[in-house]
Amino acid sequence: RDRVDSSAEIAASQSRSEFVANVSHELRTPLTAISGMIETLKGQARNDPEAQQAFLDLMEGEAARMKNLVADLLSLSQVENEGLYRWESLDLCALIKSAKTSLGEPASKRNVTIALKGCDEERTVRGDADKLRQVLNNLIENAIKYGATDSEVTVDVSVPKHQVILGETGVRIDVRDHGEGIAEDHLARVTERFFRVDDHRARDTGGTGLGLAIVKHIVNRHHGRLRIESKRGSGSCFSVFLPTD
Ligand code: ADP
Repeated sequence: RDRVDSSAEIAASQSRSEFVANVSHELRTPLTAISGMIETLKGQARNDPEAQQAFLDLMEGEAARMKNLVADLLSLSQVENEGLYRWESLDLCALIKSAKTSLGEPASKRNVTIALKGCDEERTVRGDADKLRQVLNNLIENAIKYGATDSEVTVDVSVPKHQVILGETGVRIDVRDHGEGIAEDHLARVTERFFRVDDHRARDTGGTGLGLAIVKHIVNRHHGRLRIESKRGSGSCFSVFLPTD
């Protein structure tokens, strides 16, 4: 008897092929650019040191884009693998501080200060340290990239009295920026793989469109929630709710 695929199986296979098509497209774009520049370096620009330098710089940028993409693809496959999570009791504020330190360079480039609030006492959660650091890193990095220059990004840790989101006790982390914000009709899509509001701008900033998909996946694995509030023109707030017991 022929096997009839369930609609869930069909949907999964469609989303798989869509994913492969997206990855191929994202890799082909920089690869095509690099190939074209190699041609030029071997041809027209063969005896032109100035043009050669310019092309090498462009090629460096395209190669960096491919590296970012491959790194994010590896992260994505790792966060989907339950067996790779190491669960332990963690100090959330220590993780935020370490994410803040590692983002010192991009922050100072845009003259952004990262202000940490609510970390006077220890905030303990159960989770995977590397994965949660990745969540904080991606959210703070986005706040720096898409926030305004010469401004402040705040990371606020709190323990809400009335847990409406999780229906149990939990901790809340708000990452807030003062950038352009996200238009309402894009808001629901920003956690989709490869979705970028402004392709060109995101490309310039080295964005792969995978950062928030990775964040959402990790938060879900921790039985938490991600909530995004944003208005065009007045900045964004990405809130992560994590259960504490
Ligand atoms: P990317 O690698 O492009 O940054 P993300 O998955 O992290 O990918 O984000 C997806 C898109 O969501 C970004 O391209 C950007 O358009 C939008 N976005 C993410 N964070 C912010 C923010 N803090 N402010 C405004 N837009 C944002």
